[in-house]
Amino acid sequence: MTPRGWAVLTLAALVLALVVVGALLVPWSRPPAPRADQLAALRDLPADQVARGRALQAALRPGRYTGLAVGLLVALLLGLTPLGARLVELAGRPFGDHWIARAVLGGIAVVLVADLLTLPFAAWRQSVLTRYGLSTQGWGGWTVDLLKSYALSAVLAATVLLGFYTVTRLAPRWWWAFGAAGAAGLVVLLSFVLPVLVEPVFNRFTPMEQGPLRTELTALAERDGVPVRDVLVADASRRTRAVNAYVSGLGPTRRVVVYDTLLREATPAEVTSVVAHELGHARDRDVWTGTLTGALGAAAAVVALYLVGSWTPLLRRAGVDSIAEPRAFALLIALVTVVGLVAGPVQALVSRRVEARADAHALALTGDPTTFEAMQRRLAGVNLADPDPPRAEYLWFASHPSTVERMAAARAYAREAGR
Ligand SMILES: [Zn+2]
Repeated sequence: MTPRGWAVLTLAALVLALVVVGALLVPWSRPPAPRADQLAALRDLPADQVARGRALQAALRPGRYTGLAVGLLVALLLGLTPLGARLVELAGRPFGDHWIARAVLGGIAVVLVADLLTLPFAAWRQSVLTRYGLSTQGWGGWTVDLLKSYALSAVLAATVLLGFYTVTRLAPRWWWAFGAAGAAGLVVLLSFVLPVLVEPVFNRFTPMEQGPLRTELTALAERDGVPVRDVLVADASRRTRAVNAYVSGLGPTRRVVVYDTLLREATPAEVTSVVAHELGHARDRDVWTGTLTGALGAAAAVVALYLVGSWTPLLRRAGVDSIAEPRAFALLIALVTVVGLVAGPVQALVSRRVEARADAHALALTGDPTTFEAMQRRLAGVNLADPDPPRAEYLWFASHPSTVERMAAARAYAREAGR
């Protein structure tokens, strides 16, 4: 069998594995809370809170969609015309057209052009968040964060670009196999490394101080049978007024992180409710599931790129001979951008199902739907969320159930528990 035949077979196996993992590990069977309960919850929210959340979302909308469109357009323009190839050549010229210069500098140049052209929309978003009092960060801090993330991306991109184009040179017929294994390995590695190496670049984490709340949370984790190494507090307040908590890392790097804003804004019982939700993620191994699907997806993407990349009309459009050469990097980015846009709603749907399961876990663990609902109201109020967002936007972007869905789920739990 030819390398191409093996690639088709591998892609089929990876897609099958993704479908199996998705079918087995995603909680599909949990029906959403009845719409009537959601509408009742919406009526119970203060009208001015709902209006303020909707006003912010409306103010963010034009910039968000224009930014998305510009990002897509730039990717297509660079990838489906010879412009991208020319940009890569240009970046390699001062270094005698050496392939490493083309691969690393050319690749970074392509990404940077797209980043810079969408930068005004990021700045616009920041100005809206400041106007609504949600961001507490000045332009200086915002710029520092931006430069830090550029620097981090550049280091990561340089490593990946150098690795990838070394493999395509050494194994011109089989690079897709090594590339797929490498991409999967990178996803797993980043799951371990990001919380330890990258999160501290942007925030300071301190163990939650000793006291009744910490004792309560540790006892809760113990009761739940979830080994959590530490409960950390992040100094999110220097950037935002928004409240949040999350669980990240795998095995020895796993931790529950609570925003300092949450501790300031919410009652201890509400913080407990949020942490109970996070424990649900740990208990159901949601980070593992995310890492596994991410690894399978990344491997499948590399093989698919190899197969699509052998389509001559596409290569001719980009003015390149092969998808595996550095000059074709912009074409690669264009394909990845389109796939990412299409995969977005699927990822959002899976994420909402997983989040709903963590909510159910929090309700069962605390047995306190009243506090859970109070916390959801507070989350929506402080974060200026639209408690019941437009359907299309919800389907496309929402990683969590809406506020009214979460409130309705609490009410459904209360009804069932009272029975
Ligand atoms: Zn969650």
